[in-house]
Amino acid sequence: MTGRRNDRVGTLFVLSAPSGAGKSTVAEKTLATTPRLSRSISHTTRPIRKGEVEGVDYRFVARNEFEAMIERGEFIEWAEVHGNLYGTAYSNIDEIVFKRHDDLLLVIDVQGAASLRERGMERVTIFLAPPSMEELEKRLSGRGSDSEESVRVRLANADYEMAEMDKFDYTVINDDLSTAVDEVRSIIIAERLRTRKKAVGFRGYTG
Ligand code: ADP
Ligand code: 5GP
Repeated sequence: MTGRRNDRVGTLFVLSAPSGAGKSTVAEKTLATTPRLSRSISHTTRPIRKGEVEGVDYRFVARNEFEAMIERGEFIEWAEVHGNLYGTAYSNIDEIVFKRHDDLLLVIDVQGAASLRERGMERVTIFLAPPSMEELEKRLSGRGSDSEESVRVRLANADYEMAEMDKFDYTVINDDLSTAVDEVRSIIIAERLRTRKKAVGFRGYTG
């Protein structure tokens, strides 16, 4: 185990990137090779895709149910992304960060990272950048899960998202996949080894 102390609470690691940059791919490989790191399971109103599992990939809810959760203040952050609502519920964080003392990886969009920052929530943020906009377009088209229109919208959003890069604690360029995974894992290990929990922990929690 790397630098873990019994008295610590888990750290929130936020991985954000423009759609198609590879955050799901990098997150999956990082989670598979980093002990005591769990993926945050978001709520979403987007329809379930083939191969996805309720409660594993997302918690799929109706829009009115999601809106009621917003009303009740149940989300630490939420955002509308490409026409659907996505959010991280407090309940999901409590279990892993406070009870299990594991670290949590939030794979969320750039707006979600900004809203955690605005609320002063303690977290370590990692921006995953594509090597170029041409490569981003290639990956979005190559993934085969989005229509031409949807690729166009995602590329247009990517311009704004790339401009947010400077606000993140770390930037990793996802050119060679295994290098990017090594770099994300190195950030997590280095943060765990901090002498004092300066940027880590969960003291910004207001419930
Ligand atoms: P995101 O979750 O950011 O939308 P994905 O993880 O779905 O992105 O990746 C988008 C596409 O790019 C997928 O087809 C994936 O296999 C591919 N991909 C991810 N990382 C790399 C990489 N380093 N080199 C080449 N292709 C990649
Ligand atoms: P997808 O529908 O492809 O799974 O995800 C679309 C986008 O929503 C991705 O950028 C993903 O990271 C983002 N997303 C997933 N969960 C959350 C969440 O809880 N909050 C926010 N802000 N974005 C999320």
